[in-house]
Amino acid sequence: GPGDGPSPGKRRLGVMGGTFDPIHHGHLVAASEVAAQFQLDEVVFVPTGQPWQKSHRAVSAAEDRYLMTVVATVENPQFSVSRIDIDRGGPTYTVDTLRDLRALNPDADLFFITGADALAQILTWRDSEELFSLAHFIGVTRPGHTLTDAGLPKGGVSLVEVPALAISSTDCRARVAKGDPVWYLVPDGVVRYIDKRHLYRGE
Ligand code: ATP
Ligand code: MG
Repeated sequence: GPGDGPSPGKRRLGVMGGTFDPIHHGHLVAASEVAAQFQLDEVVFVPTGQPWQKSHRAVSAAEDRYLMTVVATVENPQFSVSRIDIDRGGPTYTVDTLRDLRALNPDADLFFITGADALAQILTWRDSEELFSLAHFIGVTRPGHTLTDAGLPKGGVSLVEVPALAISSTDCRARVAKGDPVWYLVPDGVVRYIDKRHLYRGE
């Protein structure tokens, strides 16, 4: 905005959606790398809403996932966290996330950052044609998943190689359940938050 110095063109806003149960360094490195390569002004992390359907496992409370995301990002001036998907309630559809963020940030171009696994599902997402008109999509590499542009619309998606971090939330939860450390897989504050709230112990 005014006073922030010259900003030719529109503000460039990255959007990183995820369950973040818990957030880990794979998420943070991916966001940081895309921010640098795409000259993003900010990356907003958007924890998903609470799924109301019974799935194969119980997702941690939205408030815990939100707070871990805040703890993990609070020191980076380029990173922020949005409650929009949590406050909307119900399961999250990316098209709703992007519609809401567009309305809240009419001055910005949106860049949706997603891992190779999620990108592969993209054409099966709800309102997939509209998605590409709301944001530019950036698929990031993820160990164990191949990045491919097969079937993706030309121009709407960029593929980015990020430093490979073979970290997943699933593995972090399993480690905590077994009593194995998650130090250096997730930020220190997240280790302490998991411990304080006794998350993932009973899995
Ligand atoms: P889970 O194991 O519970 O599925 P996750 O580690 O995949 O958790 P999510 O919250 O599902 O984490 O991921 C949010 C986004 O971050 C997705 O687009 C996912 O592909 C991406 N992502 C997750 N881990 C990595 C990683 N290590 N490197 C790059 N991208 C990642
Ligand atoms: Mg996942």
